[in-house]
This record gives sequence, C-alpha cells and structure tokens, in this order.
Amino acid sequence: MGIYFFKKIQKGAHVPHMKNTEDMSFVRLDKFSEIKIPMRQHMGSVCKPLVKIGDYVKLGQKIGDSESNFSAPIHASCSGTVKKIDNIKTVSGEMIQTVIIENDEKYEISEEVKIPQINNKEDFIKAIRESGIVGLGGAGFPTHVKLDYKGNSKIEKLVVNCAECEPYITSDYRECIEDTDNILYGIECVKKYLGISKVYFGIESNKPKAIKLLKTLTKDDDNFNVITLKSLYPQGAEKTIIYATTGIVVESGKLPADCGVLVMNVSTLGFIGNYIKTGMPLVERKITVDGDAINKPNNLIVPIGAPINEILDYCECKNDLVKKVLMGGPMMGISVADITTPVIKNNNAILAFTEKMCKKEEVSSCIKCGKCISVCPMNLMPAGLEKAYDKKDFEKLNDLAINLCINCGCCSYICPANRPLAQKNQLAKTLLRNKNK
Ligand code: SF4
Ligand code: SF4
Repeated sequence: MGIYFFKKIQKGAHVPHMKNTEDMSFVRLDKFSEIKIPMRQHMGSVCKPLVKIGDYVKLGQKIGDSESNFSAPIHASCSGTVKKIDNIKTVSGEMIQTVIIENDEKYEISEEVKIPQINNKEDFIKAIRESGIVGLGGAGFPTHVKLDYKGNSKIEKLVVNCAECEPYITSDYRECIEDTDNILYGIECVKKYLGISKVYFGIESNKPKAIKLLKTLTKDDDNFNVITLKSLYPQGAEKTIIYATTGIVVESGKLPADCGVLVMNVSTLGFIGNYIKTGMPLVERKITVDGDAINKPNNLIVPIGAPINEILDYCECKNDLVKKVLMGGPMMGISVADITTPVIKNNNAILAFTEKMCKKEEVSSCIKCGKCISVCPMNLMPAGLEKAYDKKDFEKLNDLAINLCINCGCCSYICPANRPLAQKNQLAKTLLRNKNK
C-alpha cells in the first residue's frame, strides 16, 4: 500500500508555527576564537584532513576530502592556525576527526577560491562537488551525487523546496526574501546543465510575502510555477512536496528522479547561485536561533564549525533554565548533548527550551483511536509498528513497511496516550539494519 493514498489525500499534523523570527534579517556573527571543523558533516564517506597542526589556513581553503565520490570536501571557514586535529563527538553521537583552527578573525580569503569554469554538465557536477555543498534542508546528502542521476528517466521537473514546515525555523524563508537573485541564478544553472524545463516552487501558505515575491519575479516565464501549499507538517518531505506541487506520485522503492523529478532545498540553490558567481565554497550557515530559553531570537550567518554555546550566548540564552537544545526543529531536530559541539553543514536552526516546553506527559496504553494512522504522511500504521518493535517481530516490521517511515514525528505528536511511536520506529530501523549487516 505505501504511499498509494497520496492520490486521494495529503496527511500530516497541524503544528503551531511559532515563526517568531520571520521578520528578522540575517545578522553575520563571526567573533569566534576557535572553529572546530569535523571531517564528516554529510551522508557518505568521512574526509581525511589535508592540513596538519601548525599550518596557516585561509577562508575557503580545502582542508578535508575523500577519494570516495559519495562524500563532500570540507573547507576552512575562517583564517588562522590549525591548533589541533582531534576526535570529537559530533551531534550525531559519532566520534569524528576534527580540525580545530585558532581563528585570527581576519577571514583572509584563500587563493584557491576561484570562479569555477563551467562549460557542460560534467564541469557543473565537478564544480558542485568541489564546492562542498550538501542538501542544506535535511540529511546532508551530497548535492553532486543527487544532480548526477544515472537512471533511465529524464529529469524534467525541478521542485524547489521552500516549505519550511517545522515550527520556529525561518532561515529558508529569510533566504527566499533576502537572497532571491542567487536562488534564481542557482535554478538557472541547474536547469541549463541538467536540461530541466519546468520549475515548481513549493511554499506553505503561511509565507505570503515570499509567495508574492517569487510570483512577481517569475511571472514572465511560463516554465516557473509558484505553488502555495497547505500549512500542514510535513509538507517539506520529499515525496509529499512532489505530489503537492506536480501531482506526481513517487511509488515506494522509486526515487524522485525515476519519475523525472529533482527536489532541491531553496537554500541549497541560493548557495549554488552564489558559488557559481564567486567560487566561495560552503563555509557558513544561515540559521534560526529561537525557543523559550532564548531572550534574543535571531536569524544568523555563522561560520561552519562555530561552537553552539557561543551562539546561544550571543542570543542571550537563559543558561540556568535550559533543559534541552536542539539542532533543527522540534519535530525532527537532534538533541544536542554537548553544547560546545560545532555548527555543521546541514544545521538550519538551534533551538533552546526550558523545562516548561520539555515536560513529558505520562505514557498510557494505546486506546486504538487511530489518530496516528490518520496523520501519517506515508500511510503507515504507527501503532502496529510499535507493537511489532516491542515484540522484535522483524517480519511484521517489514510487512508494515517500516522502511517508508520518514521519522517526521506526526504520530508521536498526535497520540493522546503519548506513546513514543516515532522514536520506536527509529529504533526499529536501527535494529533491522544491524540484523541485516
Ligand atoms: S494515536 Fe496513540 S492511542 Fe491512538 S491508536 Fe495510535 S498509538 Fe494508539
Ligand atoms: S514518524 Fe513515521 S510512522 Fe510516524 S507519522 Fe511519520 S512517517 Fe508515519
């Protein structure tokens, strides 16, 4: 069954928006004495450091790379001296080799930063890999791998993901408002080198200013469509936004590209536009900082590798009251165990919450209300999956298509019995992965 019902109804949860920072322009923050750059910040192979202790590095210099294509190089996000190369625990909980730079705060640009020479698709893909870009909206999938689809279908449609359906986060929204030229140029490059004709912006109805701006700027080109989406979490999930913008159903087991569609996050496209014009690789992140423990919510531009605790201090975090810090949104974000952890490439928000917002309601027995099924965007049966996980019934987990779960958290959010459904799904997937190793 899988996503069959996409054709009839889109499902999800009505979550509070809390977009407190939507009118706040980006502010650049670069006063960090030490920058920690982990050698893996993406899906795929870990990079090896290309520098050693004592080296002087400059902004944009490549300091890590891998021989594997399924990886993305890593660049210095400041100028300064390499102080240490050490294993540190990143937000994913893994120990990753990390280049620690004593920042001289001059941000002197490396001679390696040059406008890429691009004449064809091959050059484009190569340049995109060199830029270090990974999907900025989600799991950090290397962008050059996504663009270099080698299947049988021809990609004809580009869906620009501007949904930003998680509460609090407004960094993609601000990108739409403040960086429109680069976004449109990035789209032009992707269209040109991949031979794509149609472009669909998918943007939730709660962002009227961005919808108006994108419609105005693209009104003279019939190949551009700005689609207003219902404000329903998770509209930004890949298969959901493809259906909502193009009407195409990507059946389970298929990739969007198999159906002729490429989905790209709007900030990724903004980065590509700027990179093709300037040659500056991915060295900084635009992030939203918010939550009830933050006195001064903000949209910031920070160097990759900046320590989270210093960003929280800048935003006047109530340190004595903080109960939880998240990297990402409240629905899918990762809890940060150590706040000296650095910002990484796919980090779009830092949220800090007090006890009041983290209170755990008591878990009670399932009352078979069916609400979890009614909100699951993938048409799964979360209560059944939980039961199968508790019994370690691998066959049942596979029958109920656990692999389709996108960990959106809608089921846990809606459950009146407060059952940790999404969390159990995550554990079930890990269990199956380990069993199949
Ligand atoms: S929403 Fe909760 S209580 Fe209702 S069926 Fe699902 S697991 Fe049971
Ligand atoms: S976390 Fe998984 S099971 Fe729960 S609603 Fe989302 S996709 Fe469905």
